[in-house]
Amino acid sequence: MPGAGAIVFLDFDGTITRDDATDAILEAFADPAWLQIEDAWVSGRIGSRECLAAQMALVTASRNQLDRLLDEIDVDRGFATLLDVCAARGVPVHIVSDGFDYCIDRILGRPDLNLLARLTDSCIVSSRLRPEGSRWRATFAHPPEPCAHGCATCKPAAMERLQAAGAVSVFVGDGLSDRYAAMAANVVFAKDKLAAFCDNASIPYMPYGTLAAVAEGIDRLPGAGLRLPRSLSRKVMPSV
Ligand SMILES: [Mg+2]
Ligand SMILES: [Zn+2]
Repeated sequence: MPGAGAIVFLDFDGTITRDDATDAILEAFADPAWLQIEDAWVSGRIGSRECLAAQMALVTASRNQLDRLLDEIDVDRGFATLLDVCAARGVPVHIVSDGFDYCIDRILGRPDLNLLARLTDSCIVSSRLRPEGSRWRATFAHPPEPCAHGCATCKPAAMERLQAAGAVSVFVGDGLSDRYAAMAANVVFAKDKLAAFCDNASIPYMPYGTLAAVAEGIDRLPGAGLRLPRSLSRKVMPSV
């Protein structure tokens, strides 16, 4: 029974959406000093929690301005297909994001997409963003105390908490903030910077362009691999 016994974790920004909402907010509304903070994160001098807290403190935008920008962010149309495939196979789907609940709710709650209504059984683990006048405040609850990586949202910790016993964990991502999740998952679907990281770190992954391809890959996850003990099933490759 392909796909049974699996659990799917998706990054949000750049994975479910075509563009990164946090980057779009910073590019549009932040003092340019956000780029120096970004460099400090990319070079590993600070973690994403410290990075995002400092960057969001540089944003000045009304709630309306932010909402209008978020309404322009495209969602990968394959996401609905992926949800269909997983629902048909009884595979749980969760979202683990360094990005912000405010953006996720606004984008997935769009009436024309109606995706939030399809995620009532899913956990959405993310950072928190709230307006304070025209300034924005980022806070982080997953976990409440910073993890060893300094993650805004610690994806491997969230995945471990949500993991069902014996299930093959599948992670789908696109960026550098996905690297610890990719190291922890059994099966990885990667594009863009995450694919480059996996290449460098010799982490096996399935390259993908859109979530429709990921849905196909999940549909073909080998049943045999799913029955292996957890120690042996690490990095099971879908037979696509
Ligand atoms: Mg991303
Ligand atoms: Zn972490």
